[in-house]
Parts: sequence; C-alpha cells; structure tokens
Amino acid sequence: MTPSNFRAGADIATPNRTKDIIRKHGFTFKKSLGQNFLIDKNILDKIVAAAELSPAKGALEIGPGIGALTERLAEEAGRVAAVEIDTRLIPILRDVMAERDNVNIVHGDVLKTDLHRLWKEQFASCEQVSVVANLPYYVTTPIIMKLLEEGLPIESIVVMVQKEVAERMAAKPGGKDYGTLSIAVQYYCEPQLVCIVPSGSFIPAPNVDSAVIKLKRRGEPAVAVRNEAAFFKVVHAAFAQRRKTLQNNLSQLAGKERKQELGALLESCGIKPERRGETLTLQEYATLTEALLEAGILS
Ligand code: SAM
Repeated sequence: MTPSNFRAGADIATPNRTKDIIRKHGFTFKKSLGQNFLIDKNILDKIVAAAELSPAKGALEIGPGIGALTERLAEEAGRVAAVEIDTRLIPILRDVMAERDNVNIVHGDVLKTDLHRLWKEQFASCEQVSVVANLPYYVTTPIIMKLLEEGLPIESIVVMVQKEVAERMAAKPGGKDYGTLSIAVQYYCEPQLVCIVPSGSFIPAPNVDSAVIKLKRRGEPAVAVRNEAAFFKVVHAAFAQRRKTLQNNLSQLAGKERKQELGALLESCGIKPERRGETLTLQEYATLTEALLEAGILS
C-alpha cells in the first residue's frame, strides 16, 4: 500500500483502515497517553454536527491520533490546528493530511502549549473557533480547566470524555456527581450531552463507556461575581470533605475562632450552615462569596 492510499478522501474511521494505517507504520498504542482511536463513523458525524463548523470557522483538535476526526474537521472548518504529544504520530499525521492545506499539525503537550499564541498564529482569519476532540482520558480535567480559565475566545468545546466525567460536568445540585468540575464548567458554559458512546467504538476498547458533551461558552459567566478567584476558593473549600457540613468545611477559610460568625453569615445568606457543598447552586455560591468578602473573611 502506498502512502497516498491514506490521504484526503480516504475514510480513516473504519476498523480496517485504522488497522491498515497502524500496521503500515508499525504503530503500537500507548495506554499511558490515553490512546483509544475512534473507528465509528456515526459517532464522528455526531461530533462534527454538534460543533456546527463552517468554512469561516476554525477548529482546535487536541490529540488527533492518526487523524480520523482531523480529516472530518478539515472538510467542515476553514482552518484546523491539531496538537499531538506523541512524536511517533507526527509523520503518520503529516502523511495522512498531506493533501489538506487547511490543517496544521502541532507537535506538543497541550497542557504546556501557549494557546494564546497558537490562536494568533493559526486562527487570525477565523470568525469563531471551537475545540473539538476525543480527549485523552488521563488528563481530561486539566485540559478542560485550561480551556475554560485561560480566557480564550472559544465558541464551544465538543469533546469525547468518560461518561462519568460528562455526567459530572452536566450535574445539577443535590447529587453525588455535582462538584467543583460541574461548577467550573457551568460557570463558563452551558453543557449539553450529545450522545453516549459504547467502548466498542474505539480501538483498543477502553474499560469504560464514553460520552460526547458540548460546552457552549456563555457570553457572560452564569453568575456575577466581583472576584472569581475568591468564588472558586469558596467552591473548593466547600467540597474539601464531601461528608462535612458547609460550616465545617468553610472554617478552613475563616479560622476555627470565627466558626460561629460563619454560621450566622451563612444564615444571613439564606443558607443553613449544616447543608453540604453539593446542595448549593451557583447563585448561592456567588452570594456566599460576596458575604465572605464583605465580612473580610476573604480578600
Ligand atoms: N483523535 C483520535 C481519535 O479520535 O481517534 C485519537 C484520540 S486518543 C483518545 C487521544 C490522543 O491524545 C492520542 O493521540 C494521544 O497521543 C494524544 N495525547 C495524549 N496526551 C496529550 C497531551 N497532553 N497533549 C496532546 N495530545 C495528547
């Protein structure tokens, strides 16, 4: 088989073509890099449809693997930048994408990549940019947090993640799935579950089910806070030990000697001190943060 057999127009996301490419390049999967490649064309269609791309838009892919999703993004978006950490995959991707002049393969660890610079270099001509990826599961949360917190002009994030992580991102207050990740995601974005993906849609098959989730970036955060760092400090403190009451968990911010004052302050916000962090809405966290700042417990 010649390299051109693998180029533009060839559908990579089938078990046979994926196996051909892997065999041709003598590629072996690295579990430590979360390498589970998609071989299900229907799922790729759903991911790409959810991203609502167009020739005026750009797509940032994290972890292109051998390019199954990259190829589809290149068909829909005006510009694609794909950041891949695994050196062994770079020549394969360059081969597979050789005839795509709107794709740039970037070799690197996305967590160490200067994304603001990448944006300027790759997406200057794009009206909007979305992140679209089948994420490596071992670093899903740090990648999502980096995308949310760096203030990048992202339209939406459409990602394949572990089903359990998607459930945590979309969770409402009151259940065990609701936590710091739910609050961070929902502060910046509106989450929307796209589909559940069985493990048989990948090679090798992961041990868990997966899900595609779309995080549509809000124009303004879900709640108004004057000090975001303080807001997230309160959220993290409230979940420090899930079984503990809010009053006990927040004592670490206030100091033990101010525990009673903290109880009264919680009551003044309409929040019972014996409630658990997992029951508070984003608005309640915002109100509480404001009160803690006013009382000088936080600065
Ligand atoms: N997009 C391909 C697909 O859907 O078939 C591959 C997805 S696979 C789940 C995750 C990919 O992310 C792998 O290619 C892996 O090498 C890459 N990867 C892992 N950690 C990374 C990191 N920190 N930065 C960039 N890429 C990473």
